[in-house]
Amino acid sequence: MSEKRKISIIGSTGSIGTQALEVIEKLRDKFEIIALAGGNNTELLKSQAEKFRPKYIYSLKPISVDGVKTLSGLDEIAENTENDIILVACSGKIGLKPTLKAIENGIDIALANKETLVMAGDIVMKKAKELGVNIIPVDSEHCAIHQCIKDISQVDKLIITASGGPFLNKSLEDIKNATVEETLKHPRWNMGRKITVDSATLMNKGLEIIEAHHLFGFDYDDIEVVVHPQSIVHSAIEYVDGSVIAQLGIPSMHIPIQYAITYPERFEGIKSKSFSFADIARLDFEKPDFDKFPAVKLAYKAGKMGGTATACLNAANEEAVFAFLNGKIKLYQIYEITKHIFDEHELIQKPSIEEIFATDEITRAKTKDYIYSFVTV
Ligand code: MG
Repeated sequence: MSEKRKISIIGSTGSIGTQALEVIEKLRDKFEIIALAGGNNTELLKSQAEKFRPKYIYSLKPISVDGVKTLSGLDEIAENTENDIILVACSGKIGLKPTLKAIENGIDIALANKETLVMAGDIVMKKAKELGVNIIPVDSEHCAIHQCIKDISQVDKLIITASGGPFLNKSLEDIKNATVEETLKHPRWNMGRKITVDSATLMNKGLEIIEAHHLFGFDYDDIEVVVHPQSIVHSAIEYVDGSVIAQLGIPSMHIPIQYAITYPERFEGIKSKSFSFADIARLDFEKPDFDKFPAVKLAYKAGKMGGTATACLNAANEEAVFAFLNGKIKLYQIYEITKHIFDEHELIQKPSIEEIFATDEITRAKTKDYIYSFVTV
């Protein structure tokens, strides 16, 4: 990158956002930060703004930093064509609208927000294609596939790896009785609370299958999940001739974040040490157990149905995860509740963005009502 790349980060105070700033700190001469946007952690956002001196900041709560203009909404970031790229690193549906707006303005996207593609993958990818906007995935699996693909027309299938989460070798009985604390102890990755619960139920892998379908345009039957507990192989692709290309690396989100925001170039950046096969010694793979982790099957089903099915799946699951984190339900009930709500969903096959948001809202309300029909507040 000969000139500094102008970047904004939506969700700079979250897990991906803070790691992105660690990457940028190592590549200060490569980036100019246009805007940083955070949620409720105004103290952290303030210290980030004082350190990185963006032109603009935005927060859900009132904030002011000397010499930095405070914006009134995320749209102002998404519409600012000073940006070469926007890293969408917030979690939840709040990421969808600014992503669409940025695409409309021809701004490339480094995408870490899962909901954008799970809720509205058809609309988002169509628009990006029409306007020639790059969407570079930050999620380690999709970033791996992005790195492996040379000629997509010659790829036969995608192979997405899953660590298996903390309950890989536990019985179904153990999973049913798992506590919040046990669930939040992910063996490999350090992530936010919601995604860590999704990793324990494997719903995270289900959502990633849906993302992969949209990002790379593959049929669901050509997207395979394999459990790989060491999280060294981040995903792979198989070409028509039987060649398999995988991307490997230590499990650190710094690597895919840096790849996404510096693409197509590569820099040493935050790399801490050389990769050693000998240190890793072994790599294991096994088929996922869909009886213990039925969320993956449900996600395949929703994906194949298309339309509003995946927005419904996402909303029901997220509300159930919140109920679990608040101690209202057991871990396995997340799946049972999600499935119950999902089975009642009235599918809209080609929804507008408004219908997608309406599905999200209605599903959340129904899920909460359902949970509180058998749980005391
Ligand atoms: Mg992932």
